[in-house]
Amino acid sequence: MDQNFWRKCVVCKKEINFSTKYYKCSVASCDKKRAPAQFCSVDCWGLHSSTLNHKSAWAEEFHSPSKAEWESTPKVRIVSSKPSSSVAKNTEGIPEDILVVVSKLKAYVKASADLNTSGDVSEALSHIIRRECDRAIVNAKADGRKTLMGKDF
Ligand SMILES: [Zn+2]
Ligand SMILES: [Zn+2]
Repeated sequence: MDQNFWRKCVVCKKEINFSTKYYKCSVASCDKKRAPAQFCSVDCWGLHSSTLNHKSAWAEEFHSPSKAEWESTPKVRIVSSKPSSSVAKNTEGIPEDILVVVSKLKAYVKASADLNTSGDVSEALSHIIRRECDRAIVNAKADGRKTLMGKDF
């Protein structure tokens, strides 16, 4: 399931996007762990405040996480690393292939440090590449582009 927003405003139910401004009530008891209260705008918070008859409360500005950050939270974390021979897939069905040229990687490590390269290095590097790509994708999208570019990294 691909969710393209972070959470919904508890007042108007409008979707609050990733990497965007949102508001929380300054009254600590309004933001519960099991039922977090977030608002898309100061206006929505104002409605909440008048409903609950808050005396001296204000809306605090926050920034929602980026999609990559949100997806790296424990609930969707990839728990096991499968053997590299079979193409593992993460929870969203995105292939978890090896993304580096193993022979070239080994040649580089050998030439620069005279070290051998263990088989799981390419897997570890692939994880890093995917993570960096996810971050860059957020930047490209924020820029309204359909193409991922070097400057996004
Ligand atoms: Zn709202
Ligand atoms: Zn409140």
